[in-house]
Amino acid sequence: MRKKLIAGNWKMNKDLPESAELVHSLMSQLPTLPSNVLVVLCPPFTSLSTAAELLKASPFKLGAQNMSEHDDGAFTGEISWKMLKSVGCEYVILGHSERRQYFNESDELINRKAKKAIVAGLRPILCVGETLDEREKGITSSVVTTQIKGVLSGLTALDLAKVVVAYEPVWAIGTGRNATPQQAEEVHQLIRRLIADLYGNPVAEGVLVLYGGSVKPDNASDLMAQNDIDGALVGGACLKADSFSAIIRAAKM
Ligand code: PEP
Repeated sequence: MRKKLIAGNWKMNKDLPESAELVHSLMSQLPTLPSNVLVVLCPPFTSLSTAAELLKASPFKLGAQNMSEHDDGAFTGEISWKMLKSVGCEYVILGHSERRQYFNESDELINRKAKKAIVAGLRPILCVGETLDEREKGITSSVVTTQIKGVLSGLTALDLAKVVVAYEPVWAIGTGRNATPQQAEEVHQLIRRLIADLYGNPVAEGVLVLYGGSVKPDNASDLMAQNDIDGALVGGACLKADSFSAIIRAAKM
């Protein structure tokens, strides 16, 4: 039985005092978590260290929103795996559609970052998903297939035990328009089939595949009730303790 994982992507929101306030509110609303639910908070880099301190005695895990493919050196503005590890990160979101769209991140780059993260002992949350134009053209499956094969290229079955996949249809991110549970489940099944083709059924059955795109307290349970939806990557609704806690509660099976 796979666990559920709820990850909150704060994006470029919350300065240090606001971050501390949100972490405090979440911890007071959810002093414990159901045993089948993992929760990962992904604040901006500037809040990671403080969040790690505050979260020490809590069940929440810490993640980053991005990571460099390089170990260290002259890469102004970049953050390495070593820096993330040193502040207590266990997860890192890679290949979010905003990184793909605004920073030209390719499947190849995301794949290199994923390999680096896994060797470093970080669990990558690898994001894939089609644009509205691609969905309307009926090419969702081929787009997602290319992305999955690209981001997983060269990873071993052992590596896959560390990987989390997030299906995030771009047209549903921050738009208030979520995929229906059936639309999402269809792509989640495709992703699990692809992983089964590449690594075999037992590996595919163990991989957590999250849905992301306008997940809110009122649609979270229906989405997570689907067989192949193992949790959510939440943007807007993770910025308020009330809505994020409600989504986490909806993950309890
Ligand atoms: C996201 O940023 O990954 C996301 C899913 O955002 P939202 O929940 O706001 O659509």
